[in-house]
Amino acid sequence: MLPYQTLDEAALALGRNLTLAEKHWFNYSANKIDFFLYLHNAFFLFLIVSVAPLPYVFIEFSQYAERMAKFKIQKKITTSFSDMFNCYKDVVKNFFLCGLPIQILAYPTVQWVGIRTSLPLPSLWEILSQLIAYILIEDYTFYWLHRFLHTEWGYEKIHHVHHEFNAPIGISAPYVHWAEIFVLGLPTSLGPLVIPCHMITLYLWIIVRALDAIHIHSGYEFPWNPINLIPMYVSAEYHDYHHYVGKQSQSNFASVFTYCTMIITTTSENKVKATLLRVIVITSKLSTR
Ligand SMILES: [Zn+2]
Ligand SMILES: [Zn+2]
Repeated sequence: MLPYQTLDEAALALGRNLTLAEKHWFNYSANKIDFFLYLHNAFFLFLIVSVAPLPYVFIEFSQYAERMAKFKIQKKITTSFSDMFNCYKDVVKNFFLCGLPIQILAYPTVQWVGIRTSLPLPSLWEILSQLIAYILIEDYTFYWLHRFLHTEWGYEKIHHVHHEFNAPIGISAPYVHWAEIFVLGLPTSLGPLVIPCHMITLYLWIIVRALDAIHIHSGYEFPWNPINLIPMYVSAEYHDYHHYVGKQSQSNFASVFTYCTMIITTTSENKVKATLLRVIVITSKLSTR
């Protein structure tokens, strides 16, 4: 809730006229409590995980499936519509029983670190620099926690659920054991906790993170996708390979960049194993072309 009753009061407090974006934010948020504005993050997350995978579902079951098959990463694997729907049902159940309660319980921390809803709105530069910082923090911590989930204990107790999909689909991005929501939710939360932002930046961060997760699980690699122009971006193929290998995977743990896999190597034995498995995957793909 903003501490101004009118746009004129807000302009007086800021010592300048409000920008168009600030006027919209004022009109939308002035009479809403901060907790409600914070809950928009849960709404955006739910919306993205429900809507963003739909184009991939459409491709899979439409008349274009054959034409798009050349972009499919694991061409031989087809996930049935009922398996997709069951996966989505589990995702929704996890969201309401675990994801949403965690977000609600985290609110006092969000207030404590000082994530604000007030005016002025952050500049474009502030938003971009904070998002880049969050991506770097998330990617690095995700790498280590994901690697922990591939220990014998982590995989058997928690991470095996996410790897039920050897050929991932967009809907399966948030398909995880409930405990994994805690473990891998931490890297996503860490950036805004360390570098507090405006609520609008937090909305954007949740949206960017969810879109990235769905993209790398999509099962499709489109060569014209501009996101692949980002140096060292993981790509859908990178994470797809991690799912293909499954429990034995000792590489491709990162969520956004490949540099952790390249620099922080596992043991030389694991490197050899990972390389051999990669050769097997490439060979099997070539044989299906
Ligand atoms: Zn994994
Ligand atoms: Zn995955």
